[in-house]
Amino acid sequence: MYEPYPVPELAREHKKFRYSSLWTFAKQDLRLLAFFLLIAACVGFGTGYLWSCLLLAFAVFFALQLRSLFLVNEWISNRPYDVPPNLDGIWGALLFNVYRAQRQERIVQAEMVGLIDRAQSSLVALAEAVVLIDEMHQIEWWNPAAEKLLGIQSLDRGRNILTILRQPGFIEYFNHIDQAPDGLKMKSSAFEDHYVQIKMTRFGGESRLLVAYDVTRMHNLEQMRKDFVDNISHELRTPLTVLSGYIETFTDQEDLNPRWKRAFDQMQAQTKRMNALVNDLLLLSRLENDKKVAKNQIVEMPGLMNQLFDDAQAYNVDYGHTLNLDIDSHCDLIGSDIELASAFSNLITNAIKYTPKGGTITIGWHDDHDHGYFTVEDTGIGIDPRHLPRLTERFYRVDSARSRQTGGTGLGLAIVKHVLMQHNAYLEIESHENRGSVFKVVFPKDRLFKADET
Ligand code: ADP
Repeated sequence: MYEPYPVPELAREHKKFRYSSLWTFAKQDLRLLAFFLLIAACVGFGTGYLWSCLLLAFAVFFALQLRSLFLVNEWISNRPYDVPPNLDGIWGALLFNVYRAQRQERIVQAEMVGLIDRAQSSLVALAEAVVLIDEMHQIEWWNPAAEKLLGIQSLDRGRNILTILRQPGFIEYFNHIDQAPDGLKMKSSAFEDHYVQIKMTRFGGESRLLVAYDVTRMHNLEQMRKDFVDNISHELRTPLTVLSGYIETFTDQEDLNPRWKRAFDQMQAQTKRMNALVNDLLLLSRLENDKKVAKNQIVEMPGLMNQLFDDAQAYNVDYGHTLNLDIDSHCDLIGSDIELASAFSNLITNAIKYTPKGGTITIGWHDDHDHGYFTVEDTGIGIDPRHLPRLTERFYRVDSARSRQTGGTGLGLAIVKHVLMQHNAYLEIESHENRGSVFKVVFPKDRLFKADET
């Protein structure tokens, strides 16, 4: 804890000090000198030793000045915080002004220290862990919550934070904090089965402020939800396979009563939808549980783009859009080919689905050395901007009826988001209602691979 410096009362704050100029005090000294000279002149004339008396008067005056100088020096060197000695003339004024300036400074200092003290007390009282890390990555200060949540102990002062929080996830986050604006969720190193959300901010150059809070309850609830969806999807899979098998067998029967034909066709369409939903839920659940960064395969983009284009053409048969392929990059991608293909194909299918017949869809791949861009541009129904922030949430649909009609599960963009997260990429959407949309996937430089780099 910081102790504020005691601030002494302003001594001898007399009107004459506050309002008089240095010349006023110099005049005091001159008057004293004149007085000494007058006395010396009188005594000198009386005794016949005029010059000796004048010299003596000068010497006494000079000795007094030396004494003042000595007192000033003694005060400044030994007791600068005490009330200064009581001197007259310019030395007194000088001392007083120094003392007053110093007192002012100490008032400001005391205020600052008080402020720091209050800020520190509030940080100490916080339930969130707060850690100050200097530019050498060493721990400078932390609050008691940091001891509880992160296991930082008093002997850790001055130690490198990366030797205390050693989880690979944390090291990755520490080295790339700008790439994770939401921070990092990780297991607490101090508490078994506890989870903390960590957020780091840079300040004053390379110093960092780390804030962490307990998210165990939220994590457990989230895990329960994931397990529930995962289990129910698995449980639904078998009955659905049996149902679709029988429905298919019945539908294929030549002698099927036409009254039942329509019902079986509908049953088949609905079981297909349910199958798609279960498959998407399982894929999403796998992507969510597999938090690891995507595999480091080299995904050959010209090949993938051509395959996506062929699939798009097959899907486009019922829609009759004009499809364009625009490849303007020699870069490949580093990641997981199956997952990337699934994300890209979701974006392309959406563009085809949500564009009225006879539209134009352009699938593109290009780079600008710093980023790679996969784009899908359509001339479709577009999206009202107010829907954009929530579009990648699971089951979020702009128009549920239309989505169901087109066979959508409402999970496509949620899957895209998770795949992109694993590839340190993100999605940018630009859309105008009734004019069309551009879905742009932005990949960072370190996910790009140039064949001639090897
Ligand atoms: P769905 O299976 O319903 O298509 P998605 O997650 O793929 O689910 O998409 C979410 C919603 O975003 C869709 O229901 C649709 O309203 C909107 N959307 C997605 N892509 C487009 C697009 N290219 N044009 C217009 N709307 C789109």
